[in-house]
Amino acid sequence: MNYQMTYSPGTTILEEGATGDCAYIIDKGLVEISVIRDSEKIVLATLSDGDIFGEMALISGDVRSASVLALVPTTLSVICRPYFQEKLAQTDPIIAMLLRLLLARFHEARGKLLSMPKVCLAGINAKSADPGSAAENEAQQEVLLRFKFINDLQSALAKQQFFLNYQPIYLLDTGNLAGFEALVRWKHPQQGMIPPNQFISIAEDTKEIISIGYWVFERACCDLKKMRDALGVAQDSAEPWMSVNFSPVQIKDPNLPERFGQILAKSGVDPCSIKIELTESVLADNPQLTLAFIHEVKRLGLKVAVDDFGTGYSSLSYLHLFPIDILKIDHTFVANMFCDLRSREIINAIVAMSKNLNIDIVAEGVETKELEALLLNLGCRYGQGFFYSRPLLFENALAFLKKTQGMTHEEG
Ligand code: C2E
Ligand code: CA
Ligand code: CA
Repeated sequence: MNYQMTYSPGTTILEEGATGDCAYIIDKGLVEISVIRDSEKIVLATLSDGDIFGEMALISGDVRSASVLALVPTTLSVICRPYFQEKLAQTDPIIAMLLRLLLARFHEARGKLLSMPKVCLAGINAKSADPGSAAENEAQQEVLLRFKFINDLQSALAKQQFFLNYQPIYLLDTGNLAGFEALVRWKHPQQGMIPPNQFISIAEDTKEIISIGYWVFERACCDLKKMRDALGVAQDSAEPWMSVNFSPVQIKDPNLPERFGQILAKSGVDPCSIKIELTESVLADNPQLTLAFIHEVKRLGLKVAVDDFGTGYSSLSYLHLFPIDILKIDHTFVANMFCDLRSREIINAIVAMSKNLNIDIVAEGVETKELEALLLNLGCRYGQGFFYSRPLLFENALAFLKKTQGMTHEEG
């Protein structure tokens, strides 16, 4: 687990000869790197914002080769060895070998350097000795920024920086609001609003998506319960429902069925009104595991939707193999309908087959009235897209819901 630390001026962050297995990125501050030779302190460098130190121990696990002192209030992002080792294990073995070789060479060179007379050592600044090429510096900055982003992401849940938007899903024939899709957002303290496609894959890499996923599921269940209570709908009413996105990493979490059961019970929401969205590629990549997962969540009373249909393998056989309740046709496929007769024919076939199997269809990315009319003609039941509404904050989603049910917000 990576995290952040703050040090006041005069604090020793690392001591030469001590054991340690973390590296540090300076988010803000100034530190001094020094060694003691013949009882005398020799300053090797001063480092500031964006610089990294302690990286040798991260790779080798060796004792610290220098001391580090905070000169001003200094905030550091800490990169821990288990995290780095996991990344190293996944990396090309040749790259890992080169890294170790480079480290051995560095130790050798450093040994020679430190046996030089003190007067020569005192003038050496690690930064100015080898400033590196512009491209190298840029690449290093990119890596540092990525580490910082990962660290920020890992603390975002604890700092309550996530929130959900709800995008309405409509019944095409009646024009009534049937449900919502919960879409996560991250409000970064410096970078502002970050859309999910910029952090979900990183959260999947670091497995942080498991905790984020529980938070999303709980928030979405509680908010749906609030919406249903505000409308006074019967507990077992099919609408309004809530769709929640799921990552393949979450499927591998053995605690998920139990935790979900607890969250459902705590929120008091009817499990039938929650739909788990799994992408088509999840079904194709690991069919056995996914089938077992689907059976588990169905045992809890939840419904299952296949998301982004038409982007991957698009095999209609999935509809037979998996007990699916809803199929969401991807917006790119929907958008093609106008210009491409084949897309229209395929949607026609999907709709016909789904009807036989009792699977409902949601068309995603409905942006125009014409598209809505065409989808209605093809027999699609639900539509979602900017034509109806952009994703909304909870309060606005509730107001929207009340309006379509013939009530105003104030009346509720
Ligand atoms: P998705 O599941 O396909 O979600 C629909 C995305 O399409 C949303 O983007 C939504 O804002 C956008 N959209 C809605 N209507 C229209 C339209 O008419 N036209 C166009 N062009 N786009 C439309 P968003 O919110 O940026 O989400 C992107 C993706 O991030 C989602 O795609 C989903 O895969 C992922 N995601 C979002 N929330 C979560 C979450 O809580 N957990 C996980 N694992 N993934 C999530
Ligand atoms: Ca989705
Ligand atoms: Ca989708």
